[in-house]
Amino acid sequence: MTRKLKHGQYRPLVLVAFLLSLWQVGQAQEAQGASPSTPSGGAVTLLQNVRIFDGKSTTLSGPRNILVRGNKIERISANPIATDRSATTVIIDGGGRTLMPGLIDNHWHAMLIRVTPAESLGDAGYNNLLAGAEATDTLMRGFTTVRDVGGPVFGLKRAIDEGVVPGPRIYPSGAVITVTSGHGDFRQLTDLPRAIGGPLARMEQLGGAMVADSPDEVRVRAREQLMQGASQIKLTAGGGVSSPFSPVDVSTFTEAELRAAVEAAENWGTYVTVHAFTPAAIQRAIAAGVKVIEHGMLMDEATAQLMAKKGIWLSMQPLPEGLRLGFPEGSVQRAKADEVWPGITRTYELAKKHKLKTAWGTDVLFSRVLAQQQGAILASLTRWYTPAEALIMATSTNAELLVLSGKRNPYPGKLGVVEEGALADLLVVDGDPIANIKLIEDPAKNFVLIMKDGKIYKNTLGR
Ligand SMILES: [Zn+2]
Repeated sequence: MTRKLKHGQYRPLVLVAFLLSLWQVGQAQEAQGASPSTPSGGAVTLLQNVRIFDGKSTTLSGPRNILVRGNKIERISANPIATDRSATTVIIDGGGRTLMPGLIDNHWHAMLIRVTPAESLGDAGYNNLLAGAEATDTLMRGFTTVRDVGGPVFGLKRAIDEGVVPGPRIYPSGAVITVTSGHGDFRQLTDLPRAIGGPLARMEQLGGAMVADSPDEVRVRAREQLMQGASQIKLTAGGGVSSPFSPVDVSTFTEAELRAAVEAAENWGTYVTVHAFTPAAIQRAIAAGVKVIEHGMLMDEATAQLMAKKGIWLSMQPLPEGLRLGFPEGSVQRAKADEVWPGITRTYELAKKHKLKTAWGTDVLFSRVLAQQQGAILASLTRWYTPAEALIMATSTNAELLVLSGKRNPYPGKLGVVEEGALADLLVVDGDPIANIKLIEDPAKNFVLIMKDGKIYKNTLGR
């Protein structure tokens, strides 16, 4: 009894130590300028003399003033906007610089950037702290929203939304659902055979990926993600490059299994997106009711036609060479990458030819260095698109895809545009990114103001 009491007495101390460490993390971030510097609620910011890229138009507006109240854009005007000029109103002179919507990365894995594949199966506490630090960097690169297509990201999302750690808005999928041997099944051969109804593999316990080999299993796993707050459900419909036992040519889930996920998601008011490269995998997914295809790099003309006809989204990534070269020469993964990479140009050409609804993302995995090139990967779209088209894709077009989450949209309100009534996720760029898209490759230098949800996370313009 006495021992028990004594033990209990330490608990407050442990809690204080923990809170103190969080406070110290917060202090460090403030030093970097990552903590919001305006109070929430009724905060008012007046940005004067900016030229606006609104997320839709291919040209900048003339000089404008813009008033942000709370988390929304209240007014945009060419004339001066009257404010009460009280101490709580932050007035910033944009000096003729460019104001644009915060960037959106529609294929991100917030939990899988700084860790190695082995570490991702390790200490969840450590991995969450790493992911929190990376989320702050992501926001400071000007990415105010990410669509997370696989990983145990619910805790990170909650911490960001609660203001514990600065980071982007996260549209979480939770665990990727895969078949035995499919893309996302990172078990080893020594883990086989799986006892049906037996214990979960480590990746499943952590919520990174779930193996499902029947419509019933798919339903359970999909509903578990929805229960945790998934805004969409992600399955892998075909083989992948980075997973050890899934050749890229294979189709994995049966149509009935895919349809089970689609039914679960649609009953919940949202949608299913699938990882798929080949025409067979893409066409089967579409037949099952899937709304978004991730990658699609090995698609053919007939598949592109089908996607156009049915209004299916293509969520594409201009995968950087560095990612392909990162797979060791002679490895299975490298051979698969060599097969997929030439498909990037082919698929972008098909997407343009058939006017597919095309979203943009990076799919950075296991590399902090590549993550730092998030803006450069966006700028690399100019191999196929004009700078304005690339910027429109990463703002208003990506936001259009996010709307598919319906009532499961965690951030109702307009994203990806600068217009009255839209959510105030805004960047001020020192220069014109339409004339020089390379500006977005160096966000530390060129993004002089970063606002998310009406709160200022960076401001080197002064007030
Ligand atoms: Zn991915």
